[in-house]
Amino acid sequence: MIYIGCHLSSSKGFLNMAKTAEKIGAGTFQFFTRNPRGGKAKDIDPEDIRNYHEYAGKMSMGQVMAHAPYTLNPCSDKEHIREFAHMVMADDLERLELIPGSLYNFHPGSHVGQGREKGIEMIADLLNDILKEDMTTTVLLETMAGKGTEIGGRFEDLKSILDLVVLKDKVGVCFDTCHVSDAGYDIVSDLEGVLSQFDDIVGIDRIKALHINDSLNPCGSHKDRHARIGEGTIGREVIGAAVYHPAFKGLPCILETPNELPGYAEEIKLIKEMEREYN
Ligand code: FE
Ligand code: FE
Ligand code: ZN
Repeated sequence: MIYIGCHLSSSKGFLNMAKTAEKIGAGTFQFFTRNPRGGKAKDIDPEDIRNYHEYAGKMSMGQVMAHAPYTLNPCSDKEHIREFAHMVMADDLERLELIPGSLYNFHPGSHVGQGREKGIEMIADLLNDILKEDMTTTVLLETMAGKGTEIGGRFEDLKSILDLVVLKDKVGVCFDTCHVSDAGYDIVSDLEGVLSQFDDIVGIDRIKALHINDSLNPCGSHKDRHARIGEGTIGREVIGAAVYHPAFKGLPCILETPNELPGYAEEIKLIKEMEREYN
């Protein structure tokens, strides 16, 4: 059983996302908690949440993933920017308890010249502030392409952040195939080698979700431009090998490829059809 889905618009609420997921053959989905540029979150409609749970229960929806606004910077050199990230993430986590047992993925941030170590400390401080013992959400650090001063482009960055977090069972990693390749890890010629490197540095069991994207750019480009599956430098075989890797069994796999819904439906079908090649 694999849980594959894609990023969906949350503008029409949760029930609508569940119905859309079902329509395109998805068993999970990802959504932005608010405007991706970080605006105010919409009020939650309790009836929509009730309807969502009923519908998602019937279609046996897998674990779903919220994505924090990508403009947050938890390790900015400006206090008000760090505070904004703190406020948004704490608020998002509180709301997410309406969908218990979900994942909340965020970009660790850019240290903007303060140095990797300082940035890592700031990110861990923020997590230690907002993670609560009784929350049911798992917060995920996304592997990044390593653009500019971005943290998370090296597996060591993720390891250092996770090490500093007190509530270890509340955090994990979302492994983005495009970002990992762009960061310089050669998953195309040696997926097993990269995964074993990840295992040595971070621990493969810390990966709680996959972002399955092809990349427009070669390994090590640090660009972060997603391509449709099979239309980039990674290719469908490597994406398939990742999705069906025994270490990732049962994890949500989310497409963030440049597609409208029909395109996503096609990619979901393509990936499901690949199952027999990996069994
Ligand atoms: Fe992301
Ligand atoms: Fe991603
Ligand atoms: Zn990306």
